[in-house]
Order: sequence, then structure tokens, then C-alpha cells
Amino acid sequence: MSEEMIIRTAIVTGGSRGIGRAVCIALAKQGCNLVVNYCHGEAAAAEVVALCKAAGAEAVAVQADVSNAEDCKRLFEEAIHAFGRVDILVNNAGITRDNLILCMSEADFDAVLNANLKGAFLCCKEAARRMVRQRYGRIVNLSSVVALRGNAGQTNYAASKAGLLGLTKSLARELAGRNITVNAVAPGFIETDMTAALPEAVRAEMTKGIPLGRPGIPEDVANAVAFFAAEQSSYLTGQVLCADGGMAM
Ligand code: NAP
Repeated sequence: MSEEMIIRTAIVTGGSRGIGRAVCIALAKQGCNLVVNYCHGEAAAAEVVALCKAAGAEAVAVQADVSNAEDCKRLFEEAIHAFGRVDILVNNAGITRDNLILCMSEADFDAVLNANLKGAFLCCKEAARRMVRQRYGRIVNLSSVVALRGNAGQTNYAASKAGLLGLTKSLARELAGRNITVNAVAPGFIETDMTAALPEAVRAEMTKGIPLGRPGIPEDVANAVAFFAAEQSSYLTGQVLCADGGMAM
């Protein structure tokens, strides 16, 4: 089959809500088959599958905790079973357990590093094995502007997101010779469940620091992810694109 005829298959971790959900829909509109991963939200993932299908794509939902190696293995096996290949991996699944360091438990540090950083490592490993064989791949990791600027109360989260930048650049070098690109998108302050609990005063203060004058919406980030995931972005690797309204410049 010629390269142009291949329908690309994308796995989006944490595709059931927020940014991941918007990424699934954006990639479905680009003509990809979608594997919508979720951890707890079965109904939310089913809704995303329906939205992808409405956009003209094939889509399945797969439950897997990305911090668990066996789950990641099964996630990729189910993707191959459904669509025969994996061309795009978006490491989007992420959690926060914010606290000042004196109050942060070891368990909260480990939980965030395991979900955000180890989860991406495990999925990259599963993806790389298959992408190397097919000599094609696009990996996009969701970092954050806090990886670049730091944020009081988020030592665990910022460490995980900064770790993702090191992972992205190292893996970009490892896989470049096999026509596989690895890039990162660093969102700023985006309106999702993750940021919904912030007190109004904090939200107002954060918005003041955004040159474009508003928090982002998931689609703002999905657009940047879809850009890296596109066939045409073949000369971009090891890059970090801030989707942040100008916050981190
Ligand atoms: P969100 O609304 O809280 O959604 C998180 C998603 O990740 C959910 O689909 C959740 O699935 C999934 N997830 C969490 N732990 C998982 C695990 N162990 N295995 C598999 N899936 C898991 O988050 P969001 O705001 O859309 O953020 C998406 C990504 O962007 C995250 O990596 C986040 O760190 C990053 N980011 C967000 C912002 C922001 O302002 N929102 C800023 C910078 C970076 P279930 O619901 O099924 O558990």
C-alpha cells in the first residue's frame, strides 16, 4: 500500500476528558482512526468515541492505567487488534496532587511521577517498538509551561512535566533515523476539570499573566497537538510548542 493510502491510527491517553477529548476529535477530523484511552471514565470515553465516529472516523475506547506496564501493553495490543497499526501516540494522561513541599507526601510525589512521566515512558516504549518496524511515527507529549517556569505548590507536577521534555528530546534523537518524530506541547492555563477547582482569585491572577488575556480552551491545545501529529510535520522533531496565550515567552 502506498504511504498516501494508509489511514493513520492514533492512541490518545486520557482521551476521555478535557484536552485529550479535544485532541481525539481534532485527529478524527484529520482522518485518523482513534483509540480513546481512559482510566476511570468509561461513559465519558464512550461519548468521545461517538463524537469521533460522527466526525467520520473509526474509534474504540480502551481502559488502561498508563502507570501500569501490563495495562500499556494491553492498550497497544487492543489498538493493533482494532486497526492493525499505531502511527500516532499522544501522551496526554495526567494528574495533579498539589501541595507545598513540606506538606507533600511521598505517595503524592510518586503518584504524579508515575502517571505523568512513567506512563509516557511505558507508552513510548510500546509505540517505538511498532513504529520502528513500520518506519513511521508521530509521538506528542503533553508537558506544561510549569516545566519551563516552575510553580509553587507543584514540585511533583513540574518535575514530571520537565522530565517529559528531557524524554521528548532524547527519544527524538533515538528515533529520528527511523522517520519517527517526537515533540512536546506545553499548555498554559486551560479550562478543564484539572483547573476547575482553582479559587476565583487564583484564576483571575493567572489570567492577568496571559498576554492574550484569556485562559485557553482544550481546542487551543488540540490544534497544536494535531499540527505535530500531521503527516506534513515530518521535519519537526525534539521541539516544544507552548500553547499558552503567550504566558511563558
Ligand atoms: P483532565 O481534564 O483532568 O483529564 C485528565 C485525563 O487523563 C482524563 O481523561 C483521565 O481519565 C486521564 N488519566 C488520568 N490518569 C490516568 C491514568 N493513570 N491512565 C490513563 N488515563 C489517565 O486534564 P486536562 O486538563 O485535560 O490535561 C490533559 C494533559 O494536559 C495533562 O497531561 C495535563 O498535565 C496537561 N496540562 C493541562 C493544563 C491545564 O491547564 N488544564 C496545563 C498544562 C498541561 P479518567 O477520567 O478516565 O480517569
